[in-house]
Amino acid sequence: MSPRRVRVSIGTAAVLGLAECRLDARPTTAYLMTYTDSDCAANCAFCPQARENSSNKTLLSRVFWPDFPTEEVFKGLRWATGSLERVCIQAINYPGFLDDVVHLVKGVKEDTNLPVSLDAPPLGIREMEMLKGAGLERISVPLDAATPEIFERVKGRLADGPYRWEKHIEALKTAVEVFDSGRVMSNLIVGLGETEREAVNLIQWLRDMGVQTALFAFTPVPGTALADLSPPHLEAYRRVQLVRHLITKGLAHFKDMEFDGAGRLKSFGVDPGIVKSGLVGEALRTSGCPGCNRPYYNERPSGPLYNYPRMLTSEELHKEAMLMGIDVE
Ligand code: SF4
Repeated sequence: MSPRRVRVSIGTAAVLGLAECRLDARPTTAYLMTYTDSDCAANCAFCPQARENSSNKTLLSRVFWPDFPTEEVFKGLRWATGSLERVCIQAINYPGFLDDVVHLVKGVKEDTNLPVSLDAPPLGIREMEMLKGAGLERISVPLDAATPEIFERVKGRLADGPYRWEKHIEALKTAVEVFDSGRVMSNLIVGLGETEREAVNLIQWLRDMGVQTALFAFTPVPGTALADLSPPHLEAYRRVQLVRHLITKGLAHFKDMEFDGAGRLKSFGVDPGIVKSGLVGEALRTSGCPGCNRPYYNERPSGPLYNYPRMLTSEELHKEAMLMGIDVE
């Protein structure tokens, strides 16, 4: 049986004709989140859905996710399918979440031709094969943290959470076996206390394993354990974004890069023309599955935009180039 209700991001709700709101950038992916009356069983320190915080449970990051009857959401997807490139399901961790996800994937595939991605807690091979059989195209097992120590602090034992770094890595390896490399993702949140060197090292390590990294800027949300932590410095985020782009495209490698004593990137280890073409191209756009633009997930529309949900204007490009000291003339 399909789950009774499902959450959708407010921008998605507008695109599906379920809510009215002004869209500064239209989502090109429909973002769905499993619905539960209880809290998530996990306790990630940055997340409004976490078990032990006082956040508004209609939030994920800074985005509002109202809930609707599942059949209305399917109807909206049928109606809006031509303006969408993908459906992405965020799975909250609660007993029975996997059944809900399988039914959502099947429902979307019955009604549309859209590829479906899932962002989920670590699963075993049987569960992943079941999801692939239901029509899932891609899976993400979010590490979120750049190192095992940070993971332990924000998602693991020190956060009183159920997750273990090793289990996440094991699940990512299983996902590559089931879905093939290039169809497995992991999230990295920049700004949780890692150095740029640690962030870049993880991106390279995952890429070598067949896993692509989707980059997020830490966003403090009221009521979460990390509500008082500041977002990352924009310049540091830009460097990691550029490196992520270059590593993902196979244009640069961690071993050729240089870092200072504080772990800040000093050299990309490639011809400056390659870095410039990354900046002019897609490096600062939202990273994730094909067709994902996640508008304003990490930032207010007034900026600064950590992830651009669209092409940069030439004014924005020049501003970013100046910030990075890159000549784009
Ligand atoms: S598992 Fe996902 S939804 Fe649950 S607390 Fe962690 S980040 Fe939030």
